Amino acid sequence: MDLYEYQAKDLFAAHGVPVLPGRTVDTASDAEAAAGEIGGAVVVKAQVKVGGRGKAGGVKLAENPPEAKEKAEKILGLDIKGHVVHRVLVTEASDIAEEYYFSFLLDRSNRTFLAMASAEGGMEIEELAVERPEALARVPIDAIAGVDKAKADEIVTKAKLPAAVADEAAEVIVKLWDTFVGEDATLVEVNPLVRDPQDKIIALDGKVTLDENADFRHEAHAALVDERTENPLEAKAKAKGLNYVKLDDGQVGIIGNGAGLVMSTLDVVAYAGESHGGMKPANFLDIGGGASAEVMAAGLDVILGDSDVRSVFVNVFGGITACDAVANGIVEALKILGDDATKPLVVRLDGNNVDEGRRILAEANHPLVTVVGTMDDAAAKAAELAAKAGA
Ligand code: GDP
Ligand code: MN
Repeated sequence: MDLYEYQAKDLFAAHGVPVLPGRTVDTASDAEAAAGEIGGAVVVKAQVKVGGRGKAGGVKLAENPPEAKEKAEKILGLDIKGHVVHRVLVTEASDIAEEYYFSFLLDRSNRTFLAMASAEGGMEIEELAVERPEALARVPIDAIAGVDKAKADEIVTKAKLPAAVADEAAEVIVKLWDTFVGEDATLVEVNPLVRDPQDKIIALDGKVTLDENADFRHEAHAALVDERTENPLEAKAKAKGLNYVKLDDGQVGIIGNGAGLVMSTLDVVAYAGESHGGMKPANFLDIGGGASAEVMAAGLDVILGDSDVRSVFVNVFGGITACDAVANGIVEALKILGDDATKPLVVRLDGNNVDEGRRILAEANHPLVTVVGTMDDAAAKAAELAAKAGA
């Protein structure tokens, strides 16, 4: 889960990373009041989960409260790369002597954590990495050893931060590591990390991605979810404990057991769809090992609730949960859903006790269900039905 800047900086503050005081508001008059409470010049900042807000006009300096109101009026409602601004952060303005870049991230290709740091911050890091790669220090971090002061000193030296702030920057980096580990983040990015005229180091911006697999040990993280921007189908699936991801531009709903099978089902459907007007998979849904009627019904309920879906492909390989149990699950699920089941279902069963599974489906003879023998043929059938439903 990606966090808003203000949420990221709240976590920074909780781990001792220096940030400036601020308040989030969702109206211009509240922005004026917040500026009055903070006192002096403030910065009004769009809270959207996308970078480059500054360039897009989403970050503005205001000298006094009436000006803060004016700037907030301009920023609220702004569309920044498809993200509409509903909330702004009003924060104390800082004088900036220098801007640096810093991040900790999970480097999947090298199977390690990575620190990236540069004395040239502020600009977009992708640009810096391409145009002046030598200015961006990359220091692998051993997960067990972590980042102590000595490691942080090494990062600061490699990033060529000035000697006057080296020590303090290293201390802040250790605290950013505490944030990264303590919150189970996969990304902590500060751009810019600034040096103010008094040589203090401050995190002026913050981007944090939390690892949702660790939610179980962070009760407080639930409060960071923004229902307004969460996909309603994904929220519903989460509430039902399903492993579901909505995909853009798809028409064929997918249910399978096992992440690997579902992934290959997506590929097969995308390929088959090329011969049927470009039909594509509409979602990822892994119902896991025990394909019970309840889980099948919950999965079908979520997928049938997706208005993009025109047909559903249920692709199950019977293992410990045999095909007859899965077939009964499908039949029961359709009973539970009743009139809510409205779209054609293509079912491919294989594996443990497949004959009995197919017999159960044949006997139920549900008007929406087509049983197809192979994965490729079933994908083609599901794509064909989706294309027909759209015609
Ligand atoms: P982003 O464009 O979405 O990355 O938003 P940032 O929070 O990084 O802000 C963009 C730029 O605005 C920063 O690089 C700073 O140059 C500037 N900025 C942000 N906050 C302040 C501030 O408090 N004082 C000053 N002088 N500039 C700021
Ligand atoms: Mn930034």
